[in-house]
Amino acid sequence: MTGKGHGKAPPRRSPEATSKAGVARRAGAAGKARAAAGIGKAVAPSNDPGRHAAAIFTRFAAANPEPKGELESVNVFTLLVAVVLSAQATDAGVNKATRALFKVADTPEKMAALGEARLSDYIKTIGLYRTKAKNVIALSEQLVAHHGGEVPHDRDALEALPGVGRKTANVVLNIAFGEPTMAVDTHVFRVAHRLELSSGKTPLAVEQDLLGLVPAPYAMHAHHWLILHGRYVCKARAPDCGRCVVSDLCSAAQKRTT
Ligand code: SF4
Repeated sequence: MTGKGHGKAPPRRSPEATSKAGVARRAGAAGKARAAAGIGKAVAPSNDPGRHAAAIFTRFAAANPEPKGELESVNVFTLLVAVVLSAQATDAGVNKATRALFKVADTPEKMAALGEARLSDYIKTIGLYRTKAKNVIALSEQLVAHHGGEVPHDRDALEALPGVGRKTANVVLNIAFGEPTMAVDTHVFRVAHRLELSSGKTPLAVEQDLLGLVPAPYAMHAHHWLILHGRYVCKARAPDCGRCVVSDLCSAAQKRTT
């Protein structure tokens, strides 16, 4: 970690942990392991939602014990910036832009000094970059002015920063501060519905359903498992059900049997 006093550096992802090939390899291994161990037996969600959820997360944990986020960062501040930049953009696109940016601006002080115009040059390949540049400069200035240049370990203080909503705060609280929060993005929302973990109509309703259902031992990693599952296996248009480690626990209308 560079820069002073910005907390523990979030771990960099390992390519194997999140690559398509890695996910596929683990799915095969997990299938054999769960068959041998008899873990994660199916139970109808309506009969026992808690056991249904436990069966699902037991499978995810067996397939990928240490799931990681895919956004790259070098400290808590750059994690916050990366998450703000990732709204309606892909993690890969954000990483491409931030590799150069974080070399010159990895603290709120340096980001504020960089200024909106030069920041825009670094991130102009990312959607909505003008608004995001404005927000990142404003949040950097606020961190310097009100938080001693530190990212606050506090939901209300995080959500008070420009460009930071509940989902961004949840990601930072989880990855940087080790809280078992549930950030609900489009992938988590979709997977939660398909697996009958929630029928909530809003991200907040889905978040609350998941927080109530995910067993405590799986709470820290649950949001990463759901995101990775949605991104690489349970895709929006064409779910890859043949590689799905929870296919026998799924009754989604979108489930493919061939
Ligand atoms: S079986 Fe298919 S639809 Fe169901 S969770 Fe798995 S990938 Fe998604």
